[in-house]
Amino acid sequence: VTPVPSDIAVSRSQVPKNIDMLAKEVGILHSELDLFGKKKAKVSLDIIKRLQHVKDGRYVVVTGITPTPLGEGKSTTTIGLVQALGAHLKKNVFACVRQPSQGPTFGIKGGAAGGGYSQVIPMEEFNLHLTGDIHAITAANNLLAAAIDARMFHEATQQDDALFNRLCPQNKQGVRVLSAVQKRRLSRLGFPVVDDGNLLTSEQKAKFARLDIDVSTITWNRVMDVNDRFLRGIEVGLGSQEKGHTRKTQFDITVASEIMAILALTTSLSDLRDRISKIVIASDKQGQPVTADDIGITDALTVLMRDTVRPNLMQTLEGTPVFVHAGPFANIAHGQSSILADKVALKLVGENGFVITEAGFGADIGMEKFFDIKCRYSGLLPSAVVLVATVRALKMHGGGPAVVAGAPLKHEYLDENIELVTKGCDSNLRKQIENANKFGVPVVVCVNRFSTDTANELEIVVEKAKSYGAQNAVVSEHWAKGGAGAIQLANAVVEATSEKSNFKFLYPLDLGLEEKIATIAREIYGADGIELSEAAKEKIERYTRQGFSKLPICMAKTHLSLSHDPTKKGAPTGFILPIRDVRASVGAGFIYPLVGEMTTMPGLSTRPCFFDITIDPETEQIDGLF
Ligand code: ADP
Repeated sequence: VTPVPSDIAVSRSQVPKNIDMLAKEVGILHSELDLFGKKKAKVSLDIIKRLQHVKDGRYVVVTGITPTPLGEGKSTTTIGLVQALGAHLKKNVFACVRQPSQGPTFGIKGGAAGGGYSQVIPMEEFNLHLTGDIHAITAANNLLAAAIDARMFHEATQQDDALFNRLCPQNKQGVRVLSAVQKRRLSRLGFPVVDDGNLLTSEQKAKFARLDIDVSTITWNRVMDVNDRFLRGIEVGLGSQEKGHTRKTQFDITVASEIMAILALTTSLSDLRDRISKIVIASDKQGQPVTADDIGITDALTVLMRDTVRPNLMQTLEGTPVFVHAGPFANIAHGQSSILADKVALKLVGENGFVITEAGFGADIGMEKFFDIKCRYSGLLPSAVVLVATVRALKMHGGGPAVVAGAPLKHEYLDENIELVTKGCDSNLRKQIENANKFGVPVVVCVNRFSTDTANELEIVVEKAKSYGAQNAVVSEHWAKGGAGAIQLANAVVEATSEKSNFKFLYPLDLGLEEKIATIAREIYGADGIELSEAAKEKIERYTRQGFSKLPICMAKTHLSLSHDPTKKGAPTGFILPIRDVRASVGAGFIYPLVGEMTTMPGLSTRPCFFDITIDPETEQIDGLF
């Protein structure tokens, strides 16, 4: 239909098939499916084992130029591409995308199911609770947070013996039987593992019972999946029962949490448990790391997370399969859907099939983390990059005026303007293509067509993209026409993936932390170097001493510029990247430097999306999600 109706109107106009039918079509056994209503289901990880003899399909990542408020359409392109490959070229195909956070859905961005005639449906279920994975993460995260404060409280208020007796009570026979987690802690402290806690000396008991957490080093925050700016700084322990054990802390948004990153990077339930056990929540007073395992909570958290490891199956508007699984933010976490969904999908599509996954934000952030963090942990070999660009966003990178939310678009974005498009191609598009090429994977540039783009403008982007090193560049109309509009893109992807890529990482893990950060800053962002604050230097020194220097780097940087300054468009040069602080997600398996001012809890703006979201109680129909 022209003009294209609103995203939710398009979504509602299609009747999704029952998900058990789709599961059957793509070769998932009945026993491997857990239905959540009729339109979504969790699938078992047993599929990986059952299909271990099957060769993986081709693995394609969708990324973009540096985002602007004008939108690039990476999710829309991911879905349009799989619709074209699956419903039109009749290939086996899967899309693997992130679960959206409730924060942006009710805040500034709206949903993330794609748009126009390229969407995951039903978009209400996709954008809202799905199967509860994010809620489970919130629960697990906050149980650990509560356990940390409770442990410090009990250590502060009880004598050594009393504390030990409470942690390891005697049974009726007068024997102290230690749990598996407690035995692990004892052995980590260098004590022989005993089956009877009575055998411990009083010194050992005291050391076992006391974690001696250095309060100033606690990095574990509480989380909630809401944009709540008033939780960016809080004081806990104000109740009379806590006898004055107050401390300042903060909430983060759930999708920025380490447990979300762990879910996205894990390769099995036992690996998830292992990663949870390694979460470092603080240092003790001697400067040694204190882990979730030291708190004794590894298994309890794994219990809360048990069901989350199974990917969630949904479908596109054209009935092709989609896994929606994990949703870490891309600026403060690593911004990828799960390794497990990709692994299951690569087996299900088989050797001649395609798995298309999306990396959050621009190629400098999402794609770099996809390669250097996600592919490193999964061992999967990427076949191609699809780099999404739009004429209007390139115009902004070429020096077009700022966009004011709610105000009508300026004429530069509505009328033909060859100069601005060209400048945008010569700066941002060029740099992002060069960035992708550094990883040895072929690049297909997808120009996501908007109705205001002119033929001349589109042609320039295609030509420039090829001249800057893209293997191919095509104009795509999947937003307006669904899969039929992306057939050229699909053919370009088939061609680009016909040979094995020469994939390589940007940096080896055995470089020092500072060198790894500087490599990303210079090579990918175009910086002249980095400048570490005192806090950052101190953390790098601490993490290196604690043995964490071999972890990959997850830069927490603004997505709105290749530099640290969101107002600098194009491809800025001549800048030094400021590293304000450095944090560790040891369980997830990365070190994350904070570049400039980055917040881990978004706020609500003056006019958030929730104003537009309505429900008709008679029909239960939801409107206003987009
Ligand atoms: P990203 O994944 O890059 O954040 P999305 O794919 O979520 O972007 O798209 C953002 C918004 O832009 C969606 O509402 C979508 O409908 C809209 N959009 C995407 N492509 C087009 C297009 N070609 N024309 C008009 N609107 C589009």
